[in-house]
Amino acid sequence: MNPMLIFKELFFKLIPKPMLSKRSASILMYHSVGNQENHFSTVSPEEFQRQMAYIAGKRFSVVSLAELVRRLRTHQPLGGVVVLTFDDGFRDNYATIFPLLKQYNFPATIFVTTDLIGKSSGYCTAEELREMHDSGLISIEPHTLSHPKLARISRADAAREIRESRRILQEILGSTPTLFAYPFGNFSDETVELVREAGFIAAVTVEEGIVSPGTDPLRLPRNAVDSATTFSQFRGKVSRAIDWYAALKTWK
Ligand SMILES: [Zn+2]
Repeated sequence: MNPMLIFKELFFKLIPKPMLSKRSASILMYHSVGNQENHFSTVSPEEFQRQMAYIAGKRFSVVSLAELVRRLRTHQPLGGVVVLTFDDGFRDNYATIFPLLKQYNFPATIFVTTDLIGKSSGYCTAEELREMHDSGLISIEPHTLSHPKLARISRADAAREIRESRRILQEILGSTPTLFAYPFGNFSDETVELVREAGFIAAVTVEEGIVSPGTDPLRLPRNAVDSATTFSQFRGKVSRAIDWYAALKTWK
């Protein structure tokens, strides 16, 4: 086994996991929930249920990403809350995750790669996205047209990926998206500028860590949950331990 993975598991097993401070928040990043065991980013339904039950049992407040961004931008305490996000627009977001989130009354944001809408049975259709949006519990936001590394394509292409995906969702949902997710967490200062110019007020990365009062809303860190995330690691990702782990990673 990879020594880094052993170290990571030991770290999260042994380290204390103090509650998030009322000044901070943790944004979780999921992709898909299902039984495709060999797909790295897919969490099993049992594990996802266990994670949601843990959050509910610990009485974490789960708020929408829009609400967290509102608090951040108006300099209010972030509340020690947890935020749920799902990337790419997989169909199990509608079929499996949406019913569970309704059961817990947990709001969430789904970042959709718009070229993939209804593309195969693996992705949500426009009707499914609209139904989730209309429930008021789920916010549907863009994740570009074709999922490129935005810092590696031309400025014109990046601008088109950002603006057009926003326009397409606006057409489907009848409301204007305000939040964005960088594909692969790949962005440059220029990408951030393009996202701001397109009218977005916040954007999420894949950098691990906790959101705190000084965090740039256009560079929000997120903590990934995937098939390799053990339950100890999950508990660490909704506690201050994730910041210590992130600090350790940059230091090593
Ligand atoms: Zn993605």
